[in-house]
Amino acid sequence: MRNPHPAEAAGTVGDDVLTVHALEAELDRHGGLVLRPKCGAGGPGELVTEWLRAVNCPDCLALDHT
Ligand SMILES: [Zn+2]
Repeated sequence: MRNPHPAEAAGTVGDDVLTVHALEAELDRHGGLVLRPKCGAGGPGELVTEWLRAVNCPDCLALDHT
C-alpha cells in the first residue's frame, strides 16, 4: 500500500476568500485525496481552493505552532 505524502498547502474554503487556511491532505470516503483546512473550517461539501498565499487563519496558525 502506498503511503501518500500529505503536502503542505494553503487555501480558502467556500465563499470566504479572505481567510487562508493551512490545508492538509486527507483521504475521502472513496479513498481519494482531498485538501481540508487544518482547523476544520467549512463543511465536507464546501469547495477548497488552493492558493499560493500565506496562511492567515488564526485557528490554523495556532495548530501549526503546537
Ligand atoms: Zn483555518
